[in-house]
Amino acid sequence: MITPVLPTYARIPLSFEYGEGAYLYTGDGEAYLDFGSGIAVNSLGHAHPHLVEVLGEQAAKLWHTSNLFNIPGQERLAQRLVDATFADTVFFTNSGGEAMECSIKMARKYHAHGGQPERFRIITFEGAFHGRTLATLAAGGQQKYLDGFGPKVEGFDQVPFCDLDAAKAAIGDETAGILIEPIMGEGGIKLIEPQFLRALRKLCDQHGLLLILDEIQCGLGRTGKLYAHEWANITPDILASAKGIGGGFPVGACLATQEAARGMTAGSHGSTFGGNPLAMAVGNGVLDIVLEPGFLEGVQKNALLLKQNLARICDEFPDVIEEIRGEGLMMGIKCKVANTELASACLEQKLLVVGAGENVIRILPPLISDAEVLNEGVARIERACHKVRAINTSKTAAQ
Ligand SMILES: *Cc1c(COP(=O)(O)O)cnc(C)c1O
Repeated sequence: MITPVLPTYARIPLSFEYGEGAYLYTGDGEAYLDFGSGIAVNSLGHAHPHLVEVLGEQAAKLWHTSNLFNIPGQERLAQRLVDATFADTVFFTNSGGEAMECSIKMARKYHAHGGQPERFRIITFEGAFHGRTLATLAAGGQQKYLDGFGPKVEGFDQVPFCDLDAAKAAIGDETAGILIEPIMGEGGIKLIEPQFLRALRKLCDQHGLLLILDEIQCGLGRTGKLYAHEWANITPDILASAKGIGGGFPVGACLATQEAARGMTAGSHGSTFGGNPLAMAVGNGVLDIVLEPGFLEGVQKNALLLKQNLARICDEFPDVIEEIRGEGLMMGIKCKVANTELASACLEQKLLVVGAGENVIRILPPLISDAEVLNEGVARIERACHKVRAINTSKTAAQ
């Protein structure tokens, strides 16, 4: 018999009652160190006092009015994002998938507005993940997610990972833009080289295309910059943000330049809940912390410590770990053993991590993690590696 909750997730049989900082607690009071951050969502950890305060204050005042009225919190958050980034304008959503949908629609509308409605196709890259809506599934192009859901939404041309010649060759009269995650998250923490992002920027400029970045996972401080593309010294035309921007409250945003947004006039797009007062209170609360002078530098400094320690573990356990990759507090451990095996061993050590493509486990600690928290996590990964090694050694001996 089907479960009351639609069984679309293979869930770990574990639940939590409350959280504090980087730790989650079960009903029995067992503490787990959270290096998954709800898949890069709990950017400020759990129950951050400032977020609790701003959400509580807003909850006592006003929850929802609809976008038929001005929403002061929205104007404030948009202005702050505009001030801190390449963008001139922001549309707020409730999720990453919706932020991507807005990005895709905006890119198409840009060309339609310019008198070229036939330019609606977007070039994407193998290994990408852009969401679970029909259009974002087509953009991600992963067959296992597309199967059974009818014809794939038209308008996405996928080329091999970081293949510039293939991207060039895919440009045609109908191309509207190029879409990429600066670090592929679900795909296995795959870094896009800065020079590749710069080459895409140039390609877009040469062909009048829009560069769309999906920074839903790698953005909002995760790499030690507010947005990951800043490392490459380029700016996109459109950017999708979500996950960490709400610190655990559902918030997404589509950021764009004035030029890219030229077709998005009154009535062209909408969302009932997007940018509601509760979400905006929390979004502003997250920025209060992340934009504090020194916060992102602190993330970079702590991230370096994490990276060095993970590299040391990688050297120590060549039988378990193949490679360490990532940037900032978005790290991946590519496993020699099955990634599920190492993830289970981490869980036994009461450390939460997240699986990804290419046999990788993702290490995504909250951005507020200090050296003590990070070292504790590393110690648990090390113990997990010892366990995995012991199990596999005894297996080999038994053969
Ligand atoms: C999570 C994610 C999405 C989808 O976000 P949802 O909030 O689940 O809709 C899209 N792109 C990337 C890179 C993501 O990590």
